[in-house]
Amino acid sequence: MIVVMKPDSTHAELDAVMKRANQMGAKTHPIYGESRTVVALVGDLTGVSREVFDEMNGVAHTMRIQEQHKLTGRTIRPDNTIIDVGNGVRIGGNEIIIMAGPCSVESRDQIVETAIAIKEAGGKVLRGGAFKPRTSPYDFQGLGEEGLKYLAEAREITGLPIITEVMTVEAVPIVSEYADILQIGARNMQNYGLLNAVGKVRRPVMLKRGMSGLLKELLLCAEYIASNGNYNIMLCERGIRTYETATRNTFDLNAIPVLKQSSHLPVVADPSHGTGYREYVAAMAKASVAAGADALIIEVHTDPEKALSDGRQTISVEDFGKLMIDLRRIAEAVDRTIDEPELEDLGAFAELEALA
Ligand code: PEP
Ligand code: MN
Repeated sequence: MIVVMKPDSTHAELDAVMKRANQMGAKTHPIYGESRTVVALVGDLTGVSREVFDEMNGVAHTMRIQEQHKLTGRTIRPDNTIIDVGNGVRIGGNEIIIMAGPCSVESRDQIVETAIAIKEAGGKVLRGGAFKPRTSPYDFQGLGEEGLKYLAEAREITGLPIITEVMTVEAVPIVSEYADILQIGARNMQNYGLLNAVGKVRRPVMLKRGMSGLLKELLLCAEYIASNGNYNIMLCERGIRTYETATRNTFDLNAIPVLKQSSHLPVVADPSHGTGYREYVAAMAKASVAAGADALIIEVHTDPEKALSDGRQTISVEDFGKLMIDLRRIAEAVDRTIDEPELEDLGAFAELEALA
């Protein structure tokens, strides 16, 4: 159920509504939209009667929420959520944000060099896994905290906020210390303990769709995070497992308009995992922009053939630069923007020369 407050209602009236709801056994989530403030009542509502709220000061009206994903659905918040991920980068507005970087952080020089190339091409967020969920326990598992330190150094040099995966509840504090965005991987979409844990921290979260996750399940997993108080969530389509073997996964482009319609949260497209082959990444990246994605996350490496993970689906920095130009043109065609790179402030050129 939601209680919609009048536009001129006071803080005291809002507090009174929340207090009354809590007394009746409901959990409350105030949502401050551009046009109105509403209070979502969730949890056990058996003791809650709508009439009580209809008569309270400052209340415009009450409504039942039909959808199961109450906090992440559009009923409660018709406006898009815009997430500030730091250093002036906002995801969910008219500007489409391109996040890019290697699958894994491999060394300090690798991540710094890649970060500079990404910034030069107009990428706005640096990706890189320090804790890697690998299919085989004998494959490279990531550099762990050392990798997080290198990411932080790359952010220091380029100003790019960083996104990196957190795999376990125990690692949430350490990863939150370094990351600007916490990534929940496909394999952990329904790890409810982990979802509750990232819901309790105040870092934006990008939740990836599980390989066999339905979109309604993805939304309910996001709901776990929101119901713990963290509303800064992005939903990521990264391909699903189907009977098709020509690609690593089947990139479900449908997910983008479906999620945009049912949720106010920003939608991110991952055409790298979505296809599994670098030659298909550009096509699906462009399609994602056309379909309404708010951000893209793309695997990029200075030498993709030598990447320690996901090399086959990783594009070179040169191809990334070309792709950015095409993406800008597609964005314009759908009335969105992708910023041109800012080059002047890049004290990082000296850094790049030092590496060369
Ligand atoms: C990744 O982003 O490198 C990754 C492991 O993704 P996913 O969880 O989608 O497989
Ligand atoms: Mn990967």
